Amino acid sequence: MTEENQEIPEVIQPELNAVLTCPDCETKQDVLMPETKFQHYYKCINEECMADITPLTGKCCVFCSYSDKLCPQKQVNPNADEKTLHSLI
Ligand SMILES: [Zn+2]
Ligand SMILES: [Zn+2]
Repeated sequence: MTEENQEIPEVIQPELNAVLTCPDCETKQDVLMPETKFQHYYKCINEECMADITPLTGKCCVFCSYSDKLCPQKQVNPNADEKTLHSLI
């Protein structure tokens, strides 16, 4: 009997650094995304703007709405819909 290579399930390491673009002033800002929750609020770092950024309709968080990356939850579980994702938290 030969020992077969055990298949190790691939653990997805979500990317946590996103570049969020303010929808008001278009300032790009480096943001570290929270790994375990959806962020529904972000304040623009541009002192002349200071916009209160909230998610677009149908998006789960500010990162899925305005950043160059999907949030960690979506990266790990891209097929889950928002309701499923929210219920996991
Ligand atoms: Zn701004
Ligand atoms: Zn998201």
